[in-house]
Amino acid sequence: MITLQDCQQRDASDPLRSLRDLFSLPPGLIYLDGNSLGAMPKSAAARAAQVVTQEWGQDLIQSWNKAGWFDLPQRLGNRIAPLIGAGQDQVVATDSTSINLYKVLSAAITIAKQDAPLRRVLLSERSNFPTDLYIAEGLCQAQGFTLKLVEPEEIAAALDSDLAVLMLTHVNYRTGAMHDMASVTAAAHAAGALMVWDLAHSAGAVPVDLLGAGADFAVGCGYKYLNGGPGAPAFLWVNPLHTERFWQPLSGWWGHAAPFAFTPDYQPAPGVTRYLCGTQPVVSLSLLACGLDGFAAAEPLGGMAALRAKSLALTDLFIALVEQRCEGYGLGLATPREHAKRGSQVCLTREHGQGAFAIVQALIARGVVGDFRAGDGATHKDILRFGFTPLYIGFEEVWNAVEHLYQVLANGEWQRPEFKQQQAVT
Ligand SMILES: *Cc1c(COP(=O)(O)O)cnc(C)c1O
Repeated sequence: MITLQDCQQRDASDPLRSLRDLFSLPPGLIYLDGNSLGAMPKSAAARAAQVVTQEWGQDLIQSWNKAGWFDLPQRLGNRIAPLIGAGQDQVVATDSTSINLYKVLSAAITIAKQDAPLRRVLLSERSNFPTDLYIAEGLCQAQGFTLKLVEPEEIAAALDSDLAVLMLTHVNYRTGAMHDMASVTAAAHAAGALMVWDLAHSAGAVPVDLLGAGADFAVGCGYKYLNGGPGAPAFLWVNPLHTERFWQPLSGWWGHAAPFAFTPDYQPAPGVTRYLCGTQPVVSLSLLACGLDGFAAAEPLGGMAALRAKSLALTDLFIALVEQRCEGYGLGLATPREHAKRGSQVCLTREHGQGAFAIVQALIARGVVGDFRAGDGATHKDILRFGFTPLYIGFEEVWNAVEHLYQVLANGEWQRPEFKQQQAVT
């Protein structure tokens, strides 16, 4: 039996506990949705005011140089790099994940067309995040490629001589299942294909080693575990083997070698800078820096390795407590138990039509914020999704979250009509 005192004890001896003070969270709220929108760093409000009132309001156009607005994408990219096993000057923070995926997938397809013109298949997982599949679908149409979608256990068999590019999300958004980046990348390369990773649910949540795995391209999200704020710019990484082989297709002036020469022809900038397109969202980029400060603060306390250890402890505890407390209430587990196969979230399942959405709403009404994802056709199981951000979630909160879940189930509270109302963003 795990007790409340055990959980309190774990908070007391948690070496990362002090990091929670860097974040502004409403008192009493148990926020288990940092995998979708990270919490606000306390420093963000003052930074936003400074950017708006001083840098914009007072210094105006001089701030491009004076406040360092112009090279924010590269400077932030260099701060993200150690979190994902990338080198310096290989990452830029810019645009959205969807747009960055368009750029790197286009690059991968162009390289594949040059190196292996007979390969015409882009392979991904059917349960990948939809925007990744939509971007791939559009590109495949335009480039005369075929998008092939398989289940995770079918990937190995699909690595054949038609395959040009394998595009996967490292940690699955619905189930929290994690691929072994090194072995999947090696298998793709052995089959003669390029490897593109989406790190949306990995960056800042699990240690990633892109260079160690020898991956080709990666993209990731700024507003999830990196805590960059709503709509924060995303990032992209290009293996230096490929960076200068190709102009990415959105060849705008910010990716030009000399943007202020204003020449009529495009000359790509050296290095990953050519993956920028147009003028950047400076306010949003400035706030992403506040999110990254959380990882700088974690560094002397053990960095990503310590964050990963705590994340696994939190998710292990949640699974164990749900099993201890909510047994017999029709919940299953979609997330792998094996540590090497799990990201930083836990997804519980419920038979489709058995109120998964309403259970999540009833929890939110009690101040426990998770989210709901509808079942896929294959399993007919709906998902209750809970993200555990080790920077600010504590062990006692996990206990309390499960206690609320038990109450919602045991009292039949989720069956109240107000919890059935679906809104635009779930
Ligand atoms: C969150 C997420 C995105 C988000 O893409 P946007 O362009 O920011 O809307 C993309 N891919 C994956 C795998 C995600 O989890």
